[in-house]
Amino acid sequence: MSRPNLTFAWNAVRSAAELPQFEPGWVWLVGAGPGDPGLLTLHALNALQHADIVVYDALVDDSILKLARPGAVVEYAGKRGGKPSPKQRDISLRLIEWARKGKRVLRLKGGDPFLFGRGGEEALALVAAQIPFRVVPGVTSGVGGLAYAGIPATHRDINHAVTFVTGHMAGGDVPDSINWRALAEGSPVIVVYMGLKHLPRITSELMSAGRSADEPVAIVSQASTARQQVLETTLARAADDAATSGIPAPALIVVGEAVRLRAGLDWLSAATQGRKLDPDPLRTKAKRDTA
Ligand code: SAH
Repeated sequence: MSRPNLTFAWNAVRSAAELPQFEPGWVWLVGAGPGDPGLLTLHALNALQHADIVVYDALVDDSILKLARPGAVVEYAGKRGGKPSPKQRDISLRLIEWARKGKRVLRLKGGDPFLFGRGGEEALALVAAQIPFRVVPGVTSGVGGLAYAGIPATHRDINHAVTFVTGHMAGGDVPDSINWRALAEGSPVIVVYMGLKHLPRITSELMSAGRSADEPVAIVSQASTARQQVLETTLARAADDAATSGIPAPALIVVGEAVRLRAGLDWLSAATQGRKLDPDPLRTKAKRDTA
């Protein structure tokens, strides 16, 4: 398709969906989803097509940045190549500075900006500086990334609650404020963000708090990108298996019986590698027959 046709198609979508104008002097705080550009929202695509400047962080996939309007300034705000990461305050100040110059500023973050994304802090800095802004939620990796691994975050036969927890504090340690016992007792499925480095501590906390050593665990790395990898293991083995395999960050750690559903729901491997799917991964039929 030639470019004019693409522009025509996009303009049709834009007007049919009544997408808002990206006004000069505004900041849009936008979630880019876990990686696959197909998981962007229409608001995110609209922002990419109209922004004067795109300030992105490490988790935003290159294939998404390619969708920025030709001529937009695309600026990285994160850690790379061993350089220290810019302070959160510096990033916020930069957004404010561009907005005050009358630019359309797109702050693009991985997943959802308000889930372990520091989007709230940046938005509050904009409020303090009286810069108008819009927040565009994104598909969070702990839901969308799991779906690409064939793991539903909830399933009626397994869990009526799911907890998203961070394995990493600002200082780099596992947060002290996590009540592992409450989590172990109250949340059948636990999705840990930023937990790969602290896997030994996290798994041992959960086992000490009563979770079974045999409980299934999945480590979902680079979910929804072409580099996606999934390691299935157990609570007792997870830390060793992760270290031996060298599975890279960013990764989610999923603890709970929901991981067993992968045998039936790993649609991506079924499509790409011809993996055979099991129609009864929880063995509910066998349980029903013997009951
Ligand atoms: N706001 C983001 C989370 C940022 S915290 C969101 O909503 O998804 C960073 C952590 O997110 C990573 O350490 C990892 O645990 C997780 N993460 C983000 N993108 C991921 C991806 N594509 N695959 C696996 N984990 C991902």
